[in-house]
Amino acid sequence: MEPNRDTPGLTRRSLLAAAAAGTTVVLLGRPAQAYDVILNPDAPELGDTISVIAVPRTSASTQPRVTVNDSLEYPTFPISGNRFRALVPTSPLDPPGRMVIRVIGDGSDTRNLALGLKNRNFPTQRITLSPSQSNLGTQHEFDRVAAFKNIVSPERYWNGAMQRPSSGRTSTQYGVRRYYNGVFAQDYYHRGLDYAAATGSPVAAPAAGRIALVGRVADGFELHGNTIGIDHGQGVLSIMIHLSRIDVNEGDRVQPGQVIGAIGSTGASTGPHLHWGLYVNGISVDPVPWMTRGFE
Ligand SMILES: [Zn+2]
Repeated sequence: MEPNRDTPGLTRRSLLAAAAAGTTVVLLGRPAQAYDVILNPDAPELGDTISVIAVPRTSASTQPRVTVNDSLEYPTFPISGNRFRALVPTSPLDPPGRMVIRVIGDGSDTRNLALGLKNRNFPTQRITLSPSQSNLGTQHEFDRVAAFKNIVSPERYWNGAMQRPSSGRTSTQYGVRRYYNGVFAQDYYHRGLDYAAATGSPVAAPAAGRIALVGRVADGFELHGNTIGIDHGQGVLSIMIHLSRIDVNEGDRVQPGQVIGAIGSTGASTGPHLHWGLYVNGISVDPVPWMTRGFE
């Protein structure tokens, strides 16, 4: 039996002595809680990444588990100062409203945190597609992109706020919803940010990382076009698509701001632009908070 950390003065020895004397021991005070938890932001809206930082109250606390609405679990990683951090992605497909985050330690040490996920009005577009346009993409391409999005590396490569990968103007923001041929696409949202700039304009790495995907039109990337995937570590990934040029190879380490390729209009694209998708634990999140405030 462990001493109750929240009941000062009640030591293991006094408990044992009381038990030996046949006395009933009543533990007063609130239940043991092994972690303080910091949520950032604490009033998130659809598309936000929620950083969950658990600060152990004792040095003995082990790495906690983090779950959302008792249905999804997100990996936790040790960060500086003997703390642990999970990144919880949200997207326009999530229902706004109450969300319960549990930080689960050993035994019965669980912190339950309820927060309200705020709705957000995303712009909509009306798109007319011909049958041939809706059938773009090869299985090879889908398989490789899906495998890339599953990567969760233990190491963290990014450091501080990310930088914009192109100096072009933002032509389509994150989260835009679509009607295809008049029908609302329930599963579609714009999974990234678009920057418009001339073909050949530089594309820079938004943060440090390791090149984990290079795909070319010639290899069957007919939907994404020439593609670079960057693993920023710990479940954070960037995908850059429609490129005219690729300057890196799989396995290369890249630094923030390093030119990795050039803007183009390859794949399913109507004009030269960069599409930057930022994925956190497999879900496309809004890159803007990663540039404005960054995450530990
Ligand atoms: Zn796009």
